[in-house]
Amino acid sequence: MHTTVHSSFKDLGLSEAILHDITKTGYTEPTPIQAQAIPPGLAGRDVLGCAQTGTGKTAAFVIPMVERLAGKSEGFPRGLILAPTRELAIQIQETIEKLGRSRRVYATTVVGGADMNAQIRGLRQRPDIIVATPGRLLDHMWNGTINLLKMRILVLDEADRMLDMGFAPQINQILEALPEERQTLLFSATLPTNVADLARASVKDPVRIAIGRSAAPADRAEQALHHTTREDKTKLLLSLLDADRDSVLVFTRTKHGADRLGRALGNAGHKVATIHGDRSLSQRRAALEGFRRGTFRVLVATDVAARGIDVANIGHVVNYDMPNSPEDYIHRIGRTARVKASGRATSFVTADDHLQLRAIEKLLGQAIPRAAGSAAPAHPAQPARNPRHNGQRDARPGQPSGFRPRRPAHARQSHGA
Ligand code: AMP
Repeated sequence: MHTTVHSSFKDLGLSEAILHDITKTGYTEPTPIQAQAIPPGLAGRDVLGCAQTGTGKTAAFVIPMVERLAGKSEGFPRGLILAPTRELAIQIQETIEKLGRSRRVYATTVVGGADMNAQIRGLRQRPDIIVATPGRLLDHMWNGTINLLKMRILVLDEADRMLDMGFAPQINQILEALPEERQTLLFSATLPTNVADLARASVKDPVRIAIGRSAAPADRAEQALHHTTREDKTKLLLSLLDADRDSVLVFTRTKHGADRLGRALGNAGHKVATIHGDRSLSQRRAALEGFRRGTFRVLVATDVAARGIDVANIGHVVNYDMPNSPEDYIHRIGRTARVKASGRATSFVTADDHLQLRAIEKLLGQAIPRAAGSAAPAHPAQPARNPRHNGQRDARPGQPSGFRPRRPAHARQSHGA
C-alpha cells in the first residue's frame, strides 16, 4: 500500500509553465516516487530515495530541479547530476529538454567516450545543469573547463550502480569540490553499506523515500525459466523468437558472448543489434535508436551497456546468461514491464547457475516458475551453504568505502581564504 496523497501534478505546487511541459510529455499523474519526492525537493530538502529505473525517478528529481533553477541563471551551472553510464546521462538530458523547455532550464551532458571539445562547446552555452558520468566530469575539472563552486543542487542517480562500477574515488573528489551549502538528492535501487556511507557523506537530514520492495518490477513482469545447457541456448532462443513477434532484449555475460550471439541471430535472419562496453558511443546510440524504432527486433546487450535503456514496450527480456548478482536480475527484468506496461522475462539456467538462481529467488522472495516444456534441471541444485558466496561480484565485504560523513560547514577544515 502506498500512502500517496497527491494524485495530480497540480497539487504538488508546480508552476503553470512546468505543468504545461509535463502534460506535453504525456504524464497525466505523478508516480509514487514523484508524489513523494517533488514537494521536499521543491522545498530545498535533501532526499534519499530508494527506487529503481521504471518508477519515474528521473522526473522526480528533474522537476524540482528545473523549478528551483528557473529564472536564476547567473551564467554558471548550478545543478549537477551524476549518473553511472552515458546512456542514462543522455536519457536524463532528454528528460530535462522536455521538462525544462518552458522554464528555459538547459542542460549539457559530459560523458566518457565522447568528444571533449564538443563538450567544452556545450559548456560555453551556459547550461543551468550538467549531467555527467564521474570520470569525465573530473577530466573537465582538471582541465579547468568545469568549476563546481556555484553548484546549488547535486543529484546522485543510481548511486549503488556508480559504486559497483568503481566510481567511489571520483565521487569522493567531486564531493570535496562541491560547496557544502547545497541541496543533495540521492537515488539508489538498493541501500547496501557502501551506499549508506555515501549517503552519510553527501546528504544532510534527508527526507527518506522508499518505493516498493526492491523487487518491484518483478511483480509486473511475467517470469519463467528454462533449464538448458550452454550448447542448447542459441537453439532455444531461436525457437522463442519464432514463437511471437515481440521485441526482445537479450542479456549475455560477456562482450564476446554478445558479439557471437548477435552474429548467430543475424545469420538466422533476425534483425539484431548488439551493444556492449567496447562499442563507441555512436554505435550504441544507433543500436538503441534502431531498437526503439523497431528497425531491430532484437537487442543483445551486456549489463553495463544496458543500464538505463529506456525503450518503451520491450516485450520480452531474455537472460541468455544469468546475471552475476541478484540485483542485476532485477535491473534486467525492469527493462520490460516499465511503469504500467507488463512484459515477460525468460531466464536460461544451466547446471552451473543454480547458486545464482537461488540468490535471485531469495531476493525476489519467490520461486521463478519453470517455462512450459522446459526440461527438469540436469543436476539437482546443491544446498547453498553460504548464500553470500555465490559469485556476486558486487559484494565486497570488509572493503572500506572511504566516504567521510558530511560535516556542517563550520566543522570543515578551512583551505585558506
Ligand atoms: P524512470 O524511472 O525515470 O527511468 O522512468 C521510467 C519511464 O516512465 C520513462 O519512460 C518515463 O518517461 C516514464 N514516466 C515518468 N514519469 C511518468 C508519469 N508521471 N506518467 C507516465 N510515465 C512516466
